[in-house]
Amino acid sequence: MNRFIEMAAELLYPWCCPGCGKLTSYKTIWCGSCINDTWNPRLINSSVTDHLDGCYTLCDYHSGMRKCILQLKYNGKSELSKAFPPLLDRFPWWDRMEDFKIVIPVPLASRKMKERGYNQVDKMFQKWMESAGKEYFPQGLVRLRRGETQSLLTRVERYKNIKGAFHINKGMDVKGRKILLVDDVYTTGATMEAAAHELKLGGAEKVVGMTIASGAI
Ligand SMILES: [Zn+2]
Repeated sequence: MNRFIEMAAELLYPWCCPGCGKLTSYKTIWCGSCINDTWNPRLINSSVTDHLDGCYTLCDYHSGMRKCILQLKYNGKSELSKAFPPLLDRFPWWDRMEDFKIVIPVPLASRKMKERGYNQVDKMFQKWMESAGKEYFPQGLVRLRRGETQSLLTRVERYKNIKGAFHINKGMDVKGRKILLVDDVYTTGATMEAAAHELKLGGAEKVVGMTIASGAI
């Protein structure tokens, strides 16, 4: 885009940092201090479990990052989907994901999907993954039952609550494939592990996770 059009776009569409509300630009999206506060790409320790072959996360889950994710998730601010591609752009280890051509999000239960109107995980990842040449399957997995909201449960309860909650959708073939499983937040890893378990039962060769943020180290 030439500089003039860029400037015009910034005037017409001023943009506030999704973390703190400070005026930024349509191009940079985040302000420097929100990024410095939370940017912490890593492979989460202990995220290699029975079925999940490790999970990467991009940011720490607090301050502006947490606020942005919650707004997209619970307050219907779907325009915040613009906040995530710049983060994915910065992920330092895409070369490790080259063989992972298939991307599947952790799905919402259908009731939540109806209430919210979208899966926030799709808003975060779908466009970017498709533009990077990966195949994104919003309904690759289905969530069979709603269960209790995970956030109110202990670690052990979370594993129990979520076990068997996912199912590979009809027509989705993961046999022998390497799957990138994406979600918004990694907490205890119970959700990712349950989803990875189902994908392995379906014959997936490897399942690696990626989330936008996590409180885990
Ligand atoms: Zn900010």
